[in-house]
Amino acid sequence: MAEEYYGLLGVARNATPAEIKSAYRKLAMKYHPDRNPGNKEAEERFRAINAAYEALSDEKKRRLYDQYGEAGVNPGAGGGFEGFGGAGVDVNEVFGDLFENFFGGGGPGGGRGRARGADLKYETEVTLHDAFTGTQLPLSFPRVEACGTCRGSGAKPGTHLKRCAQCRGQGRVQVSQGFFAMSQTCPRCAGEGQTPEDPCKDCRGQGRVRRMTELKIKIPPGIYDGATLRISGEGEAAPRGASAGDLYVHVKVKPDPRFERREDDLTITAGVDLASAALGGSAEVPTIDGGTVTVKVPAGVQGGATFRVREKGMPKLHGRGRGDLLVTVRVDVPRELTARQRELLTELRKTFHGDEPGEGGEGGVFSRLFGKD
Ligand SMILES: [Zn+2]
Ligand SMILES: [Zn+2]
Repeated sequence: MAEEYYGLLGVARNATPAEIKSAYRKLAMKYHPDRNPGNKEAEERFRAINAAYEALSDEKKRRLYDQYGEAGVNPGAGGGFEGFGGAGVDVNEVFGDLFENFFGGGGPGGGRGRARGADLKYETEVTLHDAFTGTQLPLSFPRVEACGTCRGSGAKPGTHLKRCAQCRGQGRVQVSQGFFAMSQTCPRCAGEGQTPEDPCKDCRGQGRVRRMTELKIKIPPGIYDGATLRISGEGEAAPRGASAGDLYVHVKVKPDPRFERREDDLTITAGVDLASAALGGSAEVPTIDGGTVTVKVPAGVQGGATFRVREKGMPKLHGRGRGDLLVTVRVDVPRELTARQRELLTELRKTFHGDEPGEGGEGGVFSRLFGKD
């Protein structure tokens, strides 16, 4: 397995860097996976050559290798791609674009098969109420779609596709680039291997046209701020009828002036007058569905106390039921008093403190007794 690096590259132990590089290029060209599709042995060889070159092209590593062998340069010595492209060798220096092509697998033109259409991304904003009820939003946007005239084939109706003359149906062509002959997606048929014998006029043989599209985007009840909806197959069409990309819609939920959201629960603040806070009473509280709910507050309730109203929050996006409404009490101290109220409150104060006026004037004690803090 661990074949000697110099032997692998077929150079002498005292070979110059230039000799090593030249030997490597010849071998890499010979064993490159693009030139040996499906050939495991060539792939193995290609990796080994790369490992050898990585070690021997770096002065420091080469010295370590000369001294300690493979263990000196590759402690985990198992080969593979891990050392590859690491600090030792700048693969691009040698290969240029070829590597992007080889390693870029899934990207457009990277694969041998038919490329999927591009994904599209849009952003939309809804109110908290929309997020509560769920809604349908019209979205219009430009999109590349299959041509209706030729049904995406690119061939004029009634005519056929024929084998691509440039790649002879292979979908890939050999191009020479510097030292290498490498294969690329065929520019003429975009890798399809076929071209229309008589191109469709509406799409000029492309099978695709760009047009404005209108879709209704269904926003489910309970959607979160920052959620992304994926609408499968509503992205751009692919060349000649291959599967379309997806549409991603990023949803923002606008802040609401009354309610705040905590996951599926909503919070709201409700004012309670001084007397009701002391004596007990109730508060009418609006709910997100447009109604109201009556919250009973016990005698002596303190500002900041929170009451939970079950099932009056947001619908659960995943699951059944709703979150709760959390009502936080705010005790409203009157800013202005009628003469009657003043009289009653003065009487009231006497019951707390006897006759003397409170320290710090009229307001002092009062705010200590009833204030929020
Ligand atoms: Zn067409
Ligand atoms: Zn072609």
